[in-house]
Amino acid sequence: MGCLKKLVLASFVTAALVCGALLLLWIWLGVEIIPNQVRDPRTLQDRSFDYIIVGAGTAGCVLANRLSENPNVTVLLVEAGDTFGSASIIPLISTAMQGTKYDWAFRTTPQKYSSHGLGNNQQLLPRGKGLGGSGQINYMLHFTGIPEDFDRWERLGARDWNWRGMKPYLDKLNHPAAAGDQDGDDDVLQDCKQEELTGEELYENYFDHLNLPLFVSINATASVTMDKVLSVDSIRQYLQHGRGVLSTTAIAGIGSPRGGRYGIILFGMGSVDEQALRHVSNMEEDTFRAFFPSYQNTSQEGFLFLSTCHQPASRGGIFLRDRHIDSVPFFNPNYLKDRSDIGCMIQAIRLAARTVRTDAFRSIGAHLHWPHIKRCSNFGPPVNNSAEQPSDRYLECILRTSALTGHHPGGTAAIGLHSEAVVDNQLRVNGVHGLRVVDASVFPAPVSGTPNSVLIAVAEKASDLILQNSN
Ligand SMILES: Cc1cc2nc3c(=O)[nH]c(=O)nc-3n(C[C@H](O)[C@H](O)[C@H](O)COP(=O)(O)OP(=O)(O)OC[C@H]3O[C@@H](n4cnc5c(N)ncnc54)[C@H](O)[C@@H]3O)c2cc1C
Repeated sequence: MGCLKKLVLASFVTAALVCGALLLLWIWLGVEIIPNQVRDPRTLQDRSFDYIIVGAGTAGCVLANRLSENPNVTVLLVEAGDTFGSASIIPLISTAMQGTKYDWAFRTTPQKYSSHGLGNNQQLLPRGKGLGGSGQINYMLHFTGIPEDFDRWERLGARDWNWRGMKPYLDKLNHPAAAGDQDGDDDVLQDCKQEELTGEELYENYFDHLNLPLFVSINATASVTMDKVLSVDSIRQYLQHGRGVLSTTAIAGIGSPRGGRYGIILFGMGSVDEQALRHVSNMEEDTFRAFFPSYQNTSQEGFLFLSTCHQPASRGGIFLRDRHIDSVPFFNPNYLKDRSDIGCMIQAIRLAARTVRTDAFRSIGAHLHWPHIKRCSNFGPPVNNSAEQPSDRYLECILRTSALTGHHPGGTAAIGLHSEAVVDNQLRVNGVHGLRVVDASVFPAPVSGTPNSVLIAVAEKASDLILQNSN
């Protein structure tokens, strides 16, 4: 009898495990079916198209959608990656896509002015590879810029891309229901005649946001912990109702002084998996443990304050390694090269520290942990954590040690008035016929927050320009 019971139990457990594994496999593989998908490019050899869009990322998908509205127009959307699978629809899992086949997994060159606590001084640069592009692995923060962002663009040479020119497209994103349908028109792409590109440097206007993570522990049940993420209850809540921690990206709030040049992001993840986070941040072990003092406690409640400067002044460049299409270029963002970025980031960090000292945060026992970094030990942290404020030199040192990419690179093919600009204000590549660039690289300067929604608006405006040109 006892033996039979064991056998039944074993079969039950095995069946449950197999079902679980199949469910995970289904989620991972996905069941997306793409109409008109062509897997073998050779079948297209004798076909021609009105438009060819390279890259089905945020911008490419918007363009393909708008240009293909007219049934008489043919559009070929070329994508290097595959479909992402159902796993990508679970918000909290998006980070787990980094470093997999869905990520181009680029790295910066070793950084001179920053990243000293990361492996080989290199930042990891994830980029979505597949239908949807980086929009499939991002944290889904929605921001449509502030008027100054676009007026700055115009001052830098992007004529007609000012606030007045962008507002209708941005409004459409904030109030999609109010937006009217737009008619598409047919167009024929001119022959693509490419002139020889000279020089290896593409354009030295590479910018990106940087974030400094600071851990704040709390004495309340209010954050996302590893225990909660991995609990059966979370999985059940998500599968049954689409709710719970798995349905969030753990970002709980964003704050900035009015018209501020800097801001803070509250990332509500109290405990983290050391291996997973080091895998996506490239932090060295000692740096990681200094910034995440509860790295071994999977039930620690808390959050991270990410301090950031909205308009960093540092600029870098992208350089071709050689002339082979498969060679990965060199990415050098030159993070923190411009000293003014240090001052701006320090103001953001001090805002985070002030926020932790407010009554609301004190009431949940919030305690900010200043990291003990060996190379910064001459400057801090403050001995009396709550009474003393850290020195600027200490903050500069921890910034240069482990501020991390904000994942918002852009600017390398900026719109400009001059013939040396990569694209003109119609996004046409100077010196190349029939070729436009529509992606985050055409931004002349960063937007004061996350760029994805602004990029959607840019691609909408680009579609209008292309369609108007065809008339
Ligand atoms: C981890 C992460 C988190 C982010 N979080 C946010 C956020 O919360 N909010 C926000 O607003 N922004 C966020 N962003 C930024 C935002 O997602 C990107 O700025 C935006 O998606 C960029 O869009 P894109 O069209 O320029 O490029 P992508 O969306 O990256 O698209 C490029 C596409 O081109 C394809 N491709 C590349 N080369 C070739 C080739 N040779 N042939 C064919 N196809 C090719 C790629 O596979 C990819 O699909 C985040 C980005 C990352 C990486």
